[in-house]
Amino acid sequence: MIELVSTDRCIGCRLCVKVCPVNVFDMQGKLAVIARQEDCQTCFMCEAYCPVDALYVAPQADESVHVEEQELIASGLLGSWRAEIGWNPGAEDTMAERDTTPFFEEFTETFRSK
Ligand code: SF4
Ligand code: SF4
Repeated sequence: MIELVSTDRCIGCRLCVKVCPVNVFDMQGKLAVIARQEDCQTCFMCEAYCPVDALYVAPQADESVHVEEQELIASGLLGSWRAEIGWNPGAEDTMAERDTTPFFEEFTETFRSK
């Protein structure tokens, strides 16, 4: 479920608003905000498209989990999904060529311990 928009990172490009299939985001001024979290389908599209890694979608689809932006940054999770699927600038391989299972195991381990 979508859990975080980094107000430090968001540049107001509106891509998350456009790609979200269930209209979770609104714009407030130049920032995207999570307006309808309960509608989130945990599809990761917004996180994949955000050009500045400002979004975090937790793998828990059925419940909201508490996240701290600084923890996500320190653990390398903020923006890691875009890199994992090869959508980051300069990526040399793509999801089609990779086993993403360890990525989700790391996600789950991070939040299971809380
Ligand atoms: S895609 Fe990222 S930078 Fe663009 S509006 Fe959404 S959160 Fe902000
Ligand atoms: S994970 Fe998917 S459904 Fe949820 S906010 Fe992002 S784009 Fe929308």
